[in-house]
Amino acid sequence: MQIVPGLHLVDGMENGVVNAYVWERPDGGLTLIDAGMPGDAPKILAFLDKLGQGRLDRIIATHGDIDHIGGLEAVQAASGAVVVCHAVEKAVVEGRQMRVMGDSLLTRAYGPLFDFVTRTFLRYRPVQQVDELVLDKQMLVEGLQVVHVPGHTPGQIALFEPQRGILIAADALSNRKDKLGLPTAIATPRMDVAKDSIRKLAALKGIQIVCFGHGVPITQNAAERLQAYAAGL
Ligand SMILES: [Zn+2]
Repeated sequence: MQIVPGLHLVDGMENGVVNAYVWERPDGGLTLIDAGMPGDAPKILAFLDKLGQGRLDRIIATHGDIDHIGGLEAVQAASGAVVVCHAVEKAVVEGRQMRVMGDSLLTRAYGPLFDFVTRTFLRYRPVQQVDELVLDKQMLVEGLQVVHVPGHTPGQIALFEPQRGILIAADALSNRKDKLGLPTAIATPRMDVAKDSIRKLAALKGIQIVCFGHGVPITQNAAERLQAYAAGL
């Protein structure tokens, strides 16, 4: 589904667990933003083929959660694309470090169990190598600016195109059932920092469209809605 010219939500994922996006670059290449669950890779590759075979050469992982990098290894292997993420997130994306779930007893027990389940039952395999590390405020070849939005994970990034006011918020916040919400508490070790990140996004100038890791994109009154939500945190 095309959200605006050059920005697509991968078909077949609209009603699923998580969203993945394709960004058409001015140079003719395609950039995939997030890669869904382990089982989503065929869906993503089929969608990319429809847009133009062999055009995918960059994949941006907004953060190292299984529902955003599950299909990363398979899509990377099929395309040879360069993998991009925030410097702080690299070890998790490469599977060398476990994702920090939080400090409570429950989340400490849940973390290793979750890791075991994803590798064993979902047959998750991490990508071998992240090729390009990015930092806050960096302007990428996509014309997207990196906005570091930690809290949910330490190295999560959102992406912002200033010209048209397009914000890809990743899991900084969600829009489930057309209602803005915080990232999942059990998977957000620093909710205070996550709220700061939402305020940081709300302060961006000229937002017209917001896309989320979870939930439908907002294309009407996006800045007002985001600012009102951030003000109430
Ligand atoms: Zn997440």
